[in-house]
Amino acid sequence: MPVCPYCQVEMDDDLDTCPNCGITMIYFFKCQRCGQEFATTGILKFCPLCDADLSEQMN
Ligand SMILES: [Zn+2]
Ligand SMILES: [Zn+2]
Repeated sequence: MPVCPYCQVEMDDDLDTCPNCGITMIYFFKCQRCGQEFATTGILKFCPLCDADLSEQMN
């Protein structure tokens, strides 16, 4: 289970926002096709630049 980096409260896997402090989690992606990096507040499924599928690139 992921832990909030700000208050160390455990969060549900499908929550984007910490239930304790309300911080919105930031996800980082790097597109393997065009090499662009993105920071997003939600799950990014497709690269906005080249439409590559990013769903299998999460770590
Ligand atoms: Zn928190
Ligand atoms: Zn791309």
